[in-house]
Amino acid sequence: MDKASALRQYFGHNFFRPGQERLVDGILSGRDVLGIMPTGGGKSICYQVPALLLPGLTLVISPLISLMKDQVAALTAAGVPAAFFNSSQNLEEYWAVWNGIRSRAYRLVYVAPERLENPRFAQLMAEQDVSLLAVDEAHCISQWGQDFRPSYLKIADFAAALRRRPVMAAFTATATARVQEDIVAQLGLQRPVRVVTGFDRPNLFFDVQRPKDKTSALLSLIAQRPGKSGIVYCATRNAVERVWIALNEHGVPAARYHAGLPEAERRANQDDFQFDRRTVMVATNAFGMGIDKSNVSFVIHYNMPKNLESYYQEAGRAGRDGEPADCVLLYSPGDVTTARYLIDHSADDADLDSQTRESLRRMELDRLAVMTDYCKTDRCLRGTILDHFGQGHGESCGNCGNCQGIFEEADITIPAQMILSCVKRVADKLGYHVGAGLISQVLRGGRNRRVLELGLDRLPTYGLMKDTSQEQLRAYLDCLSNKGYVFTDPDHATLRLGPTAGNVLFRGERVTMTAKVRPPEIKRPKKAPEPVSAPEDNALLTALKAERARLARRDGGPAYIVFSNATLSDMAAKAPKDMAELMEVSGVGEVKAARYGKEFLAVIASHH
Ligand code: ADP
Ligand code: MG
Ligand code: ZN
Repeated sequence: MDKASALRQYFGHNFFRPGQERLVDGILSGRDVLGIMPTGGGKSICYQVPALLLPGLTLVISPLISLMKDQVAALTAAGVPAAFFNSSQNLEEYWAVWNGIRSRAYRLVYVAPERLENPRFAQLMAEQDVSLLAVDEAHCISQWGQDFRPSYLKIADFAAALRRRPVMAAFTATATARVQEDIVAQLGLQRPVRVVTGFDRPNLFFDVQRPKDKTSALLSLIAQRPGKSGIVYCATRNAVERVWIALNEHGVPAARYHAGLPEAERRANQDDFQFDRRTVMVATNAFGMGIDKSNVSFVIHYNMPKNLESYYQEAGRAGRDGEPADCVLLYSPGDVTTARYLIDHSADDADLDSQTRESLRRMELDRLAVMTDYCKTDRCLRGTILDHFGQGHGESCGNCGNCQGIFEEADITIPAQMILSCVKRVADKLGYHVGAGLISQVLRGGRNRRVLELGLDRLPTYGLMKDTSQEQLRAYLDCLSNKGYVFTDPDHATLRLGPTAGNVLFRGERVTMTAKVRPPEIKRPKKAPEPVSAPEDNALLTALKAERARLARRDGGPAYIVFSNATLSDMAAKAPKDMAELMEVSGVGEVKAARYGKEFLAVIASHH
């Protein structure tokens, strides 16, 4: 059997997705691999297909008992002999798996990482021919990730103690460079084939706006999209309440969702949104984990999130149906302050020692800086996101606010000199550095208490820019910071001169700034990518789902083990008339066709 027939016969897929094939080839040629794909990207296939082709056993390390059960159930239903070992099993089940391994009954065995520390299990594995060690959710090995599992650190030693070192394959959806390097180092991957793919969502349009008044900007964005379904994310419960009230006052049918609402209301509001009784959901990041609504046509961030990973995950809830959708972030400098506050007061830190807490805080601040850069860049926004995830891309996507925006170069040497000189003079006078807020106050001639107490109103730079708006001054500061003339000390949030500031102050260097001159009108890409499946016959789909439920009850298993939603949609669209046509449906392999084919074909036949 070759990889393509394994994919077809057992999993019912006609093609590998981009990236999957390179990883499968890597493993089959004996190379270690590191696969980075978003959730739903299809990582499992990358080790399940090789597992069918390699001579020995594939051992899968997976952190969650429930995931393990699901995967093994799905494999078994597809005709792949697989089993798992975990603490939820009784003695009888445990020995059945143990004996199954000894008699080489399985292609794949799933275990939790803690199991590797069990000497009896290690001994059992040392006696087996293990071809492949697949590490799922490999970011759990990194202390820089949120899901650190110390027992993942034992994997390399475990692999070394096997009869011969197996091919090692690691998979994750978390892609920061730091975590990637940790995975390679801690697992001891040898020159791995590294594949990063699937992060681009071509149908999503990205934009960042800096409105003076966020609420009216939000109202007009929503007004431009009548009847469309969308999510508005806010940083705090308070902001959710305010925005929710404002939208309803303006006649927008909005629901709200945050952790402060009673469970029953949250569920009711989620249903209202899910079933389009209310088209807009105003929510904190507590909303979204379990929702699966494909026709969300916009995601607007009323506040900037704490990091780009969260942003992309939340924005990515738009356009799941493949239709063009918009992701707009309404940025204001105050969002940075809010995010810093949330980082400094994060509640789940309580049981960590102070050193760990401090290094986590620094990491969060680094991630915040990346997020802030996204809001300020004039480069392609999609490119900025893909860079962060390590995926290659073209220079310009043509489908983001920056690629479509109109930029103008302006000479800002004079205001730059004023600002830099003010930073210098304030530091000279006080003997320490202050934040950007206070510098702005001084430049704009503010009379707040700190300015007066510190005597900064007597500096020659005081009031030098009193005719410059606060936003404009902010924009200058951002530009100077992007160019490295100033930087923010991450520990104290104070503004300092960069090493090249002297060139502007004393040596006549000119400074230019590119600015978006007007917000781009949101233009559609010329052609939306084809939706994944053709529009489906709803009545037929409903009938197929009912049949699936019946078969699941008959077999005493969950419905998705019979066929996934995607498979049923494809089946409804293709309406196969015989077994051969049924096999063309994505997700229908040989075993499932034999087990369920007749029933589903009968439903389709009776529908015409
Ligand atoms: P991940 O582990 O990356 O989150 P999964 O391995 O669970 O993703 O796969 C997600 C979904 O994608 C599954 O429903 C799977 O059947 C489907 N899938 C994976 N590979 C393919 C493929 N080559 N063609 C069609 N569907 C696929
Ligand atoms: Mg997975
Ligand atoms: Zn772009």
